[in-house]
Amino acid sequence: MKIDIQPIISGIADHIDIGCDIETPAEAAPDDVEFTSAAHVSGRLSGDVRNMMLKCGIEIGYRTRCARCFCDVEGTFETEIFKPVALKGALDNEEDDEYLIAEKAALDLFVPVTDAIILNFPMRVLCRDDCRGLCPKCGRDLNDGDCGCDTREIDPRLEVLRQLLVKNDDGKDGSDNN
Ligand SMILES: [Zn+2]
Ligand SMILES: [Zn+2]
Repeated sequence: MKIDIQPIISGIADHIDIGCDIETPAEAAPDDVEFTSAAHVSGRLSGDVRNMMLKCGIEIGYRTRCARCFCDVEGTFETEIFKPVALKGALDNEEDDEYLIAEKAALDLFVPVTDAIILNFPMRVLCRDDCRGLCPKCGRDLNDGDCGCDTREIDPRLEVLRQLLVKNDDGKDGSDNN
């Protein structure tokens, strides 16, 4: 999806409104996530040719599984792009990825939109903030109620720490811990 920025280059406009849908490639979805819509992009490119700023919101539908209880979760992910834009050839260092580069009076939104989704999509999605997950012993979905299992086991990471503390205490005298 390319935005024609000629009106800003030639100085007849100080902004261009943007509203478009971009088909995001499946590879942009994290593992276990499927996008269920195109990315809806809306916002504005504003400024003059030496000082352009792109500000737009992105919304995309997704389907995945809850990271705790593995139930299906559908939702809309929202993120945004807020970046300066320069014409190709205008920057000393075009590797500087602070900037989006417009070629031949056109700004291609496909890569910046896809990048914004890849970078910002959450690592873990929960069906709800307080999802209780599955019982580690019997596998019951604890959102449906307690199963009665005794799950007062020590977190393995805490167990390592506990053993270290015990070792430390052995080698020391006059310790006032415990
Ligand atoms: Zn859940
Ligand atoms: Zn259980």
